Amino acid sequence: MKVTRIDVLEAELSGANGIASWHHVFARVHTDEGIVGLGEVGMAYGTGARAGAQMVLALGERFVLGKDPFCTETIWESMLRRSFWAEGGGPVVFGAMSALDAALWDIKGRTLGLPVHRLLGAESPPPLRSYASQLQFGWGENVKLEADPARYQEAAALAREQGYDCVKVDPIMADADGNRAYKLRSMFTPTERRMYRRRLEAIREGIGPDADIIIELHSYGSAGSALQIAELAQDLDILFIEEPTHYNSAHAHIKFARRSPIRVATGERLYTRWGFLEYLQADSVDLIQPDVGLVGGISEAVKIAHLAHIFDVGVQAHICGSPLATAIGLQFEAAIPNFEIHEHHTYALKACNRDLFEEDLQPVNGRFIVPARPGLGMTMRPEAERGMRKMSVKL
Ligand code: MG
Repeated sequence: MKVTRIDVLEAELSGANGIASWHHVFARVHTDEGIVGLGEVGMAYGTGARAGAQMVLALGERFVLGKDPFCTETIWESMLRRSFWAEGGGPVVFGAMSALDAALWDIKGRTLGLPVHRLLGAESPPPLRSYASQLQFGWGENVKLEADPARYQEAAALAREQGYDCVKVDPIMADADGNRAYKLRSMFTPTERRMYRRRLEAIREGIGPDADIIIELHSYGSAGSALQIAELAQDLDILFIEEPTHYNSAHAHIKFARRSPIRVATGERLYTRWGFLEYLQADSVDLIQPDVGLVGGISEAVKIAHLAHIFDVGVQAHICGSPLATAIGLQFEAAIPNFEIHEHHTYALKACNRDLFEEDLQPVNGRFIVPARPGLGMTMRPEAERGMRKMSVKL
């Protein structure tokens, strides 16, 4: 079997359902035997997704076309070593490698009639514990950044009612008027700290005592301001505090982790095994959150999970993409020994996302049944594809 064509499909959905910036990039890999696989670049939010689309074509043309899709290790290593930019690369190059790698795993599974987690050597697991993620945007049909603690309590109560026993919230994203606040590393004032504390108390009241809370800080602050949040929240029984500070070097994160009274999670802007190593060696992380659409794909994410396993650190895939990203994350989480919890993002509830694929992946009672269809098991809807921009390279 060999790869004969690679399509890149882009869906520009910014503004839909209130999601400010939302641009999907899919890779579709065709073979001479008619079996087709799908992958996704994990850059749907932020700025720069289209660079990922171009990189899928460039890497695909040089390193994947004409190759046997079963040779995922050989293809991955050649992309790393021979593209020049993958050595020390970031989201564009590793996001593109991730999309191509996932599509190849999809082809392998479809060829053998097995879901990817079975190819990776795992039994099908019981449904995965899942959490309702990013409640500062509400937990419903449309995204709206909330300021009022009462809205936080409502969102948490709704998630709890639906069976979730864990939620995640960013208490610092909204200022007092509900506008996006970017702290740019300065310390929080007493007024701000009281507002954040009230939002976190509202979340605790909404979910009750028998559920967990993860605090998300989106790397907005400094080690010092993140420590202010950890200190004001430490009596609220918090499971993890996520992305306390930036990734420009590991130093600030490690400084925070040494002093934090709350366990620390991070990793959605780290790439490959080498990116996680320093954080693990410094004992600065209690939960890693690799994004399978960014770290280098399924092949690399599994290696990262095993690396973390050596350090007794658990794993939650960071997932903020289309339903295909959810499918990829679930197959990965089902296959690793140190799975902790699955992230179900509030964006995953939105119609603009759910309309992209035939399969609607949603947890039931806060638990996710891992799909058992061959490969990644996802079918893009023709109606959705018609609205996408398409580019291809072929033999
Ligand atoms: Mg995060």
